[in-house]
Amino acid sequence: MANSGLIKDGWFCEVNDKSFPGQGLALKVDKVLYHSKSEFQDILVFKSSSYGNVLVLDGIIQATERDEFAYQEMISCIPLFAHKAPRKVLVIGGGDGGVIREVVKHSCVESVTLVEIDEFVIDLAKKYLPGMACAFDHHKVKVELQDGFQFLRDAATRERYDVIITDSSDPEGPAEAFFQQEYFELLNRALNDDGIVIAQASENVWLNLGYIQNLVKTARSVFPKARYCYTTVPTYTSGQLGLIVCAKNESVTLEHPVRSPTPEEQSQLKYYNPKMHTASFVLPTWAHHQIYR
Ligand code: SAM
Repeated sequence: MANSGLIKDGWFCEVNDKSFPGQGLALKVDKVLYHSKSEFQDILVFKSSSYGNVLVLDGIIQATERDEFAYQEMISCIPLFAHKAPRKVLVIGGGDGGVIREVVKHSCVESVTLVEIDEFVIDLAKKYLPGMACAFDHHKVKVELQDGFQFLRDAATRERYDVIITDSSDPEGPAEAFFQQEYFELLNRALNDDGIVIAQASENVWLNLGYIQNLVKTARSVFPKARYCYTTVPTYTSGQLGLIVCAKNESVTLEHPVRSPTPEEQSQLKYYNPKMHTASFVLPTWAHHQIYR
């Protein structure tokens, strides 16, 4: 196990001058559970004093046991409830298992393919984040261990999906390609005609408005409809995480669900509800103008 240089005086500090210049986030560490480098990235898992076990990739917090549902539910439910009848779903990344756990809750979904580059993340999630990694053996789930970008290049000629969720890490390291135009083009090709894609847009309007503007512009150069929404997650540096949602067909309404959760589905959701869906697209005036002008 590598010595964790990411932890000082008992605190894990997330500092990233590119994405969050001049600010950071710190969590108090009870115990380091795992720290090593895989073929693709630096992986740290620690037990925090207030958020349960925490997964960190390349120094950036990916998920904590206490607040992960706010991210997993929103990135899954927004495209699934904006789609009339999603049957076939693709998840790119998502090795902690949280997104597939959410997707299999939807009774209309028949199959979910998860494409994760790093098997280590899956193994560690099963060991240290069992509440997230509980759907890998579900009968609807198929796991492919490979680069999601390459998978889509191949899949674009043979497979079509109703919903594609990119649950990747930040745009530094193995996930870099997911934030560029060619990726949006591959997503577009791999979608059914009424299909929807969603991806984490990494930043929030306070810190990286220019970045979001560019991402939405790139998405709009490929998709007739692209919208930015967000969820609140206290252990991401600014307490928020942006998501970009795109539809292949202009008539699809992304900002409002076209189906409501069944009572059974809603009983399993802690963050998402139809009002939250709509509210997540509402932006402060100045940010709205900058993003959609
Ligand atoms: N919720 C998270 C966050 O903070 O953004 C993302 C979680 S999930 C752990 C991100 C996953 O994307 C990681 O397991 C990482 O290995 C995977 N990933 C990164 N690049 C990838 C690629 N090129 N193909 C497939 N998976 C990739």
